[in-house]
Amino acid sequence: MADYIAFDNERALNYVAQLNEFFAPNAQLTCNEFGDGNLNLVFRIADENGNCVILKQALPYARCVGESWPLTLDRARIEAAVLEKHGAVCESFTAKVLHKNSELALTILEDLGHMAILRGELNQATTFPNLGSQIAHYLATTSFFYSDFYLKPAEKKALVCEFTNPELCAITEDLFFDDPYRTSDRNNYPTPLKSEVEKLQQNTELHIKVAKLKQLFLSSTQSLLHGDVHSGSIFVDAQSTKVIDPEFGFFGPIGFDLGSFIGNFLLNYCAQNARISEIPKRRQMQTYLLTTIQQVINEFTATWLSLANQHTRDLSLQAPRYAEYFVNQIIKDALGFAGTELVRRTIGLAHVSDVDGIEDETARLQVQQQTLILGEQLILHAETAHDKESAFNLIISLV
Ligand code: ADP
Ligand code: MG
Ligand code: MG
Ligand code: MG
Repeated sequence: MADYIAFDNERALNYVAQLNEFFAPNAQLTCNEFGDGNLNLVFRIADENGNCVILKQALPYARCVGESWPLTLDRARIEAAVLEKHGAVCESFTAKVLHKNSELALTILEDLGHMAILRGELNQATTFPNLGSQIAHYLATTSFFYSDFYLKPAEKKALVCEFTNPELCAITEDLFFDDPYRTSDRNNYPTPLKSEVEKLQQNTELHIKVAKLKQLFLSSTQSLLHGDVHSGSIFVDAQSTKVIDPEFGFFGPIGFDLGSFIGNFLLNYCAQNARISEIPKRRQMQTYLLTTIQQVINEFTATWLSLANQHTRDLSLQAPRYAEYFVNQIIKDALGFAGTELVRRTIGLAHVSDVDGIEDETARLQVQQQTLILGEQLILHAETAHDKESAFNLIISLV
């Protein structure tokens, strides 16, 4: 058992070489750290023939802040284990784990360098026809097969224990549900947005809705979530989709993952108002974004119901129409969580390049006003959406 040490290029290379698993014994290996995420190190190790693997290692602190923000190394164990669990039920759309070492807090992954991170692609108005369907499939299968509909109660409870992730959940609890709704040093927004932020922070009806969502996040153990399904955690190309980076994974409310995805699509929708000046082009992109949201909601629902119909193990959960009721509730929750994603990405600590990358300050501010109001309205009205049609109609009425 090796004690933890943070790797540099040389150590990462040597670690992979001594495994004797991925490259020929005399291969000429090179290694380069290229992570652009907030939290971890990401190395690519390549041989002279272009074969590559990715080594991701957690640091005992958050990379973007430094040692003043200590963070558990256990997140690497969680991330690798969630990828394996999700991969077991949705192999096609989950990044493949090739090796893991929880003492060194590292995971070796297949190299997805031939694909691109979704956020950058959407920012350039590139569209992916299979993405909606594939993400719906990922979200439905991973959430169904780790729910009580499928797992036996004892099995489920053991997994809930394996996947408690208190430190990373605490980040979400603070950043999604607390900071944006009160004065906090971590909040980050331009001064001209101040009056809108104050209005939001004084809206008591909104506070109750956010408290309900937070309570759900804290106490619901519906299924094994990814926990961070934003457009930076999804690799895409013209054919396929691969989900990465589930270090925030835990047993939580299913609507949280679905809502994070929808929220990121809506952030990009708003950002396109400033990114694309030609109206027909902008309309085309925004139509793609909304159509994809609709497809995700519809196909998530259909896949979940079909899985429930075929595989529900618990007789009492097979009550007529209960699965339908359950999935409608997930959609409702998802709209609320999507709203919290819009709000926290606008005025909280961590923003998105979709919006912050807009160069013109006035145009950016207008987008921020839109994402803030859209987020607030989604949170306020999510509970009125009683099924997939009314959920989509609510989104359409607000954008
Ligand atoms: P963090 O947890 O720090 O956000 P990520 O898992 O999101 O780390 O990875 C950061 C970056 O590293 C990604 O945006 C991507 O560019 C690259 N990366 C991560 N995993 C892979 C992979 N399997 N193949 C290729 N590049 C990857
Ligand atoms: Mg990431
Ligand atoms: Mg990233
Ligand atoms: Mg991460």
